[in-house]
Amino acid sequence: MANFLDESQQLWLDTVNKFMDNEITCEYIRKCDQNRDYPYEAYEKIAQQGWLGLLFSEEEGGVGGNIFDYVLMAEGLGKYGFDFAAAILVPTFTAMNIAKYGSAKQKEMYVKPFIEGKIRFSVSMTEPDAGSDVFATKTHAKKNANGDWVVNGAKMFCSGAQAKDTVIAMLVRTDMNNKHGGLSMLLIPNTTPGLVINKLPTLSRHATGTTEIFLDNVIVPGDMILGEEGQGHEIILNHLELERCAVAAAYTGNAQEAVNNANRYAHQRTQFGQPIFNFQVLKHMLAEDQTRVDAARLLVYRAGVMKAEGKPAPTETSMAKLFASETLKQCALDGMQILGGFANLPEADMERYLRESIQCTIGGGTSQIQRTIIAKSLRL
Ligand SMILES: Cc1cc2nc3c(=O)[nH]c(=O)nc-3n(C[C@H](O)[C@H](O)[C@H](O)COP(=O)(O)OP(=O)(O)OC[C@H]3O[C@@H](n4cnc5c(N)ncnc54)[C@H](O)[C@@H]3O)c2cc1C
Repeated sequence: MANFLDESQQLWLDTVNKFMDNEITCEYIRKCDQNRDYPYEAYEKIAQQGWLGLLFSEEEGGVGGNIFDYVLMAEGLGKYGFDFAAAILVPTFTAMNIAKYGSAKQKEMYVKPFIEGKIRFSVSMTEPDAGSDVFATKTHAKKNANGDWVVNGAKMFCSGAQAKDTVIAMLVRTDMNNKHGGLSMLLIPNTTPGLVINKLPTLSRHATGTTEIFLDNVIVPGDMILGEEGQGHEIILNHLELERCAVAAAYTGNAQEAVNNANRYAHQRTQFGQPIFNFQVLKHMLAEDQTRVDAARLLVYRAGVMKAEGKPAPTETSMAKLFASETLKQCALDGMQILGGFANLPEADMERYLRESIQCTIGGGTSQIQRTIIAKSLRL
């Protein structure tokens, strides 16, 4: 956006965008969607760039970037669809829980292999009966005589949990009598005996995938709890702020591409002897959508700047998440109209953007929940 980013920030955003165009490509992302294939090759390429370690300090082997740098990366990674961005963003924002709350042993086990692309992370909050009411978690962890956790229950919609070498950060109940204070986070490799993980045939998230998970007496070493017992509520609130900031940036990147795609088509497609861009109804649709995208980007950048400065930004982050997800959905829907019948074909990419956008106003907290969070700040 003109004059908003300084030279080095603009250079970083351009670098990620060029990488998406030349090294990842829209065609690859489309193929992963069509075949429901996890994008392992792209994950590897991004690991080789060192970008998985963007938010880790240099002492930890990372880049030492700040949250605004991360927001710009997310915007670039989202360019050709949110499903692809999720493959990189879910592991990277989940990893930050280990940076913040992990023990020396957990960091030793997981940080370097993660930055090198050898392992990835998923986050599992949602359950069949705990969606928006995320802290209604029933999946239960109890200590056995050896001091290990024995976990039983069921989880829902855990993205990327089926991918190879994935460690799941799972919200579990360790105290039945304390709704918020009775929650803890466990680190559970997806090959642990007693876990059954099924990739679901969802409308969106074809490639990265989302899963249902069943846990039958899963044994987790006692020291694989993240932070303290009972700290799960705090960890998730913290986690969700970073998650929402990152996903909102990726939605904005994809919304911009949806507008660009529709605009290119409107200039190329001729009907009644002229480019359809000449019809004022379509011109105005594009003008409105570009305005929405710019507004979404400004909200995302505001949240990113505040978080990079270490300021709490729950309201600003919810505003960015709400507006960017609704913007992506509207731009993809308008794109479908502008591309006419051709929009239905996978090669046009718009049907994929629309499918994925429908998840964006649900995942990471629905639009209704974001409005509820924003409304809290309006209480006099
Ligand atoms: C593709 C996909 C990937 C996902 N990935 C993950 C993941 O990696 N990890 C994870 O933990 N979860 C994940 N989720 C789950 C996602 O976060 C939840 O679906 C979401 O939080 C909503 O929960 P729910 O689906 O149970 O809907 P519900 O909570 O049952 O909501 C249904 C409807 O009721 C509305 N509603 C509910 N409560 C209120 C209220 N208090 N006020 C107003 N309206 C309300 C909602 O806004 C919604 O419109 C994923 C979901 C999908 C579809």
